[in-house]
Amino acid sequence: MQDHLVRIISQDGLFRGVAAVTTGLVQEICTKQQADLTATVALGRLLTGGALLGCLLKGKQRLALMIEGNGPLGRLSVETDAEGRVRGSILHPRANLPPKDGRFDVAGAVGKAGFLHVWKDLGLKNPYQSMVQLQSSEIAEDLAWYLTSSEQIPSSLALGVELDSTGEVAAAGGFLIQSLPPGNPEEVARLIGRLETFPPTTSMLRQGMAPEQLLERLFAGKNFLVQTEVPLRFHCPCSVKQTEQVLVALGKEELSRLAEEQEQVEVTCEFCRKVYQFSREQINILAS
Ligand SMILES: [Zn+2]
Repeated sequence: MQDHLVRIISQDGLFRGVAAVTTGLVQEICTKQQADLTATVALGRLLTGGALLGCLLKGKQRLALMIEGNGPLGRLSVETDAEGRVRGSILHPRANLPPKDGRFDVAGAVGKAGFLHVWKDLGLKNPYQSMVQLQSSEIAEDLAWYLTSSEQIPSSLALGVELDSTGEVAAAGGFLIQSLPPGNPEEVARLIGRLETFPPTTSMLRQGMAPEQLLERLFAGKNFLVQTEVPLRFHCPCSVKQTEQVLVALGKEELSRLAEEQEQVEVTCEFCRKVYQFSREQINILAS
């Protein structure tokens, strides 16, 4: 199944739902990042969460999520837009942690203490910025807490990444459910009750269920309208110009020092690993 997501709204307007399959995307990005198994599950969850939240953007808007905890992974970043283009990176891609209770120790790899940062470029003068403390460091709960507390939209997320015996991504995906105003506490309770008895998202995906079918099962008989269906793919918009700006931001002094010490300066994009090379002359021009 091609990676994609589906966004729906219930016919009574009380619920929004987004479901995604991200298997190929998670595999591609985690291979680029040389992530170990635990890091793959952690970044895979954040990539899937980013894709789900990105689906709520419009037009040219962009979203960036960053989780920085005190665990061995350091920092996980995901960027996405309304068109389903996603990129992600991880500072220390090797968690080197043993499984805990038969599961990958994502919370241990991320670290129990830390923050989730959210940036949104909504095309306004300044980007929207928000930050919440990590709740469980399992990522789905942390994103749900951000949506519920910061954006004030009661939300529930499920994010899953399942690996096969060789360490490849067998299935990845998830869904997001939001209660829209004025809200209906009884219906919310019923939906949460159903969520609690739900099998893991990845096992449903492995049975060949598509995102729309996940939502049908979740809403069980409640009518909804499909609002959009978006293909998901890896895309890194890095460029020479952007890389030059990163270098200029180092300051004249640092650039002059670099030009003095090195004949050639290499900058590697943290997302796609493309290497940009600058000669001493080019660095001197940027420093001037
Ligand atoms: Zn790049």
